[in-house]
Amino acid sequence: MSGLGRRGDALAGLSERSFDVLVVGGGIVGAGVLLEATLRGYRAALVERNDFASGTSSRSSKLVHGGLRYLARGEVGIVRDALRERANLLRRAPSLVRPMPHVFPLRSQVHRLAVRATLTLYDRLGSQPAHTLVSRDEIAARDPDLASLAPFGAARYHEAQADDTRLVFATLVAAVERGAIVANHIAALRRRRWGDRVRTALRDERGGATIEVEARCVVVAVGAHFGDARADFDWRAMALRPAKGIHAVLRVTPRDANVLIRSPRDGRYLNTLPWHGHVLAGTTDTPASREEIDDPRPSAEDVAYVLDAVRPLYPDSDKRVRAAWAGIRPLINAGGATTVGLSREDEIASPEPGVLAVAGGKMTTYQAMARRTMDLVDRNIGRRRASEEAPLDDPLPPSGKRLVSDAPFTRGELEAAARDGMVETLDDLLTQRVGITLVAPDAVREHARDWAKVVAPILGWDESRVARETEDVRTRAARFAPP
Ligand SMILES: Cc1cc2nc3c(=O)[nH]c(=O)nc-3n(C[C@H](O)[C@H](O)[C@H](O)COP(=O)(O)OP(=O)(O)OC[C@H]3O[C@@H](n4cnc5c(N)ncnc54)[C@H](O)[C@@H]3O)c2cc1C
Repeated sequence: MSGLGRRGDALAGLSERSFDVLVVGGGIVGAGVLLEATLRGYRAALVERNDFASGTSSRSSKLVHGGLRYLARGEVGIVRDALRERANLLRRAPSLVRPMPHVFPLRSQVHRLAVRATLTLYDRLGSQPAHTLVSRDEIAARDPDLASLAPFGAARYHEAQADDTRLVFATLVAAVERGAIVANHIAALRRRRWGDRVRTALRDERGGATIEVEARCVVVAVGAHFGDARADFDWRAMALRPAKGIHAVLRVTPRDANVLIRSPRDGRYLNTLPWHGHVLAGTTDTPASREEIDDPRPSAEDVAYVLDAVRPLYPDSDKRVRAAWAGIRPLINAGGATTVGLSREDEIASPEPGVLAVAGGKMTTYQAMARRTMDLVDRNIGRRRASEEAPLDDPLPPSGKRLVSDAPFTRGELEAAARDGMVETLDDLLTQRVGITLVAPDAVREHARDWAKVVAPILGWDESRVARETEDVRTRAARFAPP
C-alpha cells in the first residue's frame, strides 16, 4: 500500500492547518468526496471515527452494478446512471473492479419472457456485453444442481465485482497522493460557525486529545449514522430508514458466476458470488434498530434465511458457513412500509451554512455522489474544475506466501499494509486492510499471534502490545463467526 501517510503527521497537519473542505466519515462516500475535492484543487482533509471502511463500506455485496431490481421497479434513470458509473469504474480501477458474469435461472415460460424483456432494456441502457440465453440441456450437461433451478434455462448477463474495502483505500490513497490529509480513529464532535468558516472539534479516539479544525465547508458522510441518537454530533439533517443486510461466507468451491437464487420464503433474489475462493451468499433486507446501527450482527434467523435459499445450489451449505456479518444500508426515507421497496437514491442536504450532509446511493455510484456534492461546495466557496481523472490501483497487490492455504491473502499484503496503511490496531490490519477476518475468522483466531509478530517490528510493537492486540483481535474475530 503506498501512501496513506503516517497518522502522527496527519494529526499534526490537522491541527496546524485550515482547510477548504473537511470530510467527516471514512466510508466510500466520504473517500469519494475527499478525492473529488482534492482533484478540484481544494485543501481537503478527512476524519474517520473508527477505521476507514469499517462501516457499511466493507459489508456490501461487492457488486458494481446497474441494479436489475431497480429496473423491474421502473427506476430507469437510476439504472442508466449506475451503468455509466460501472463502466467508469471498470476503466479507472481495473485491478479492483472486475467483470462478473451473472446467471439468472428461468422458472417458467412467462418468467423467461419477463427476464428477457428486462435484460433487453438493460442492454440498451448500457449493460454490455449483451445478455445471452443458455438452454436447460446445456446447463444440465455441466451443472445438475443449477439445472434443477432452471427448468427453462438461464439468462447470462454481466455486472462487475469490487473489493469494496480496497476501493475505499485506493480512493483515499489517490487523494493523499494529491495532497489530502486523512486520519482514522478521529471522531468529529461539535461544530460552530466562526466568521465565514466552520470550526469542528475532533477527538482522537486513541490518545483522547481534542483539537479544533477550521474549514470553509464541512461535508458530513456518516452513512447510517445520520440519526444515530448516541452520536456526539447532531446529524439530524438526514431522514434515513436504515436497513440491515447480512452475508454468509461458505467454504465451498465457487462457480465462475454469480448465480441468482430466489428465496423460497419471500421470493427475493439472493447473490451467490465467488469471493476469495469461497461463496459470498446474501443478502437480507430488514429494518435496522438503533442499536444495530453501531454494531450490526447477523442473527441465527438471518443466516437460516440465506441458507434456505442457497441449499439447492450448495446442498451441504449448512455445514459450510465459515463467516457471517452484517451491514446497514443508509436508505433515504421515502416512506412505505418495508425497506425492500425503498429507492437507493442519494440525498445531499445543507442543514446550515458551510455544512453539507450526503447519504444514500450505493457504492457503485459513489463518484457521481461525490461530483454532485462538490458542485454544491463549488457554488458556496468558489468554482473549480477537476483537472484530471484519478486512476485507482489496488493498494495491496498480493505477494509472497499465503497466510492460510484455502484463501488467497498473502504475507506480502500484511507487511505492506503495516508499512503504509495507517494501521493502529491488529484489527485495522486484518479486518480492513487485508480483509481476511471477513472470510476466515477461524484462521484469524488461530494465527493472530503469529501475524502480530510478523508486523511487530514494522509497527514498533513490543511483546505486551503483541499480546494485547492478539487478545483484542481474537475477540473481534469471534463476532464474524456464524451465530
Ligand atoms: C448488505 C449490503 C449490501 C450492499 N451491496 C451493495 C452492492 O453490492 N453494490 C453497491 O453499489 N452498494 C451496495 N450496498 C450499499 C453500499 O455499501 C453503501 O451505500 C455504502 O457503503 C455507504 O457508504 P457510506 O460511506 O455512506 O457509509 P459508511 O461506509 O458506513 O461510512 C460512514 C463512516 O462514517 C463514520 N462516522 C460516523 N460518525 C462519525 C463521526 N462522528 N466522526 C467521524 N466518522 C464518523 C463511520 O464510522 C463510518 O465508517 C450494500 C449495502 C449493504 C448494507
